[in-house]
Amino acid sequence: MRLANARGRACLVVGGRSIDLERRSGGRFSADPMQALARWDELLDWASGLPAGEGEAPLDEASLGPCVPRPQKVIGIGLNYRDHALEAGLPIPKEPLVFTKFPNCLAGPRAPVPLPSDRVDFEVELVVAIGRRGRAIPEARAWEFAAGLCVGQDISDRRLQFQGQPPQFSLGKSADGFGPIGPALVSLDEVRERDALRLTCDVAGERMQDGSTRDMIFGVAELLAYLSRHLTLEPGDLVFTGTPRGTGAVRKPPRYLAPGQEIASEIEGLGWLLNRCVSPPG
Ligand code: ZN
Repeated sequence: MRLANARGRACLVVGGRSIDLERRSGGRFSADPMQALARWDELLDWASGLPAGEGEAPLDEASLGPCVPRPQKVIGIGLNYRDHALEAGLPIPKEPLVFTKFPNCLAGPRAPVPLPSDRVDFEVELVVAIGRRGRAIPEARAWEFAAGLCVGQDISDRRLQFQGQPPQFSLGKSADGFGPIGPALVSLDEVRERDALRLTCDVAGERMQDGSTRDMIFGVAELLAYLSRHLTLEPGDLVFTGTPRGTGAVRKPPRYLAPGQEIASEIEGLGWLLNRCVSPPG
């Protein structure tokens, strides 16, 4: 099942067409994507009974907002790929490095990305959405607490991120538009190799990142177990799981985003995002 957010209304995406969730279910499910997500198992069950080829209207990707629009938490993981830690000249973390992206940063799969400085960078990432409340989740059961997966961009203003001492990540990763996700939240039954997904990022038509989630230092299950030792994970919470090598700041010379450039981010089986960089408003 693929759950998307079309102009603020929850819809299911079937074969490139959309089905309005509230209308098709006769009001059983809410039009609010967050409420749909809060009843994920029930929704999966209902959706599995839909006849094939039942899409109503062609999906207008430009109309899509973030598939999870108002999570309580958006958690980021730093340096979670060996090759990225090495290229950054930093030691391999022994425990996950955790920071916050404030939920205002979330944006749709075709949303523009405003550039507040001349050092804004791209990071394609696998994003996990939580489907069940959990605290102290055992690693062996951690995937049961995930609702699904989507593509994400952890857009980062390196100027702001590294301006203080010690560096504080949250603000530099939380500008409006700094968290495009989507195009839809894909349930786990649709993902064949959930621990080995190829992820790529092209900027202005040039391949910048090409990795696999199998190279994560801390896999998804390990991350959910670790996080839930410290806090309660709630349905809808998002985890940006880190980025592979090839980001702009650590290239020689560095490659930062410029207005007019397009960022194309793709994960095998989950779809892709296409976000155009723009000058910030006012
Ligand atoms: Zn990141």
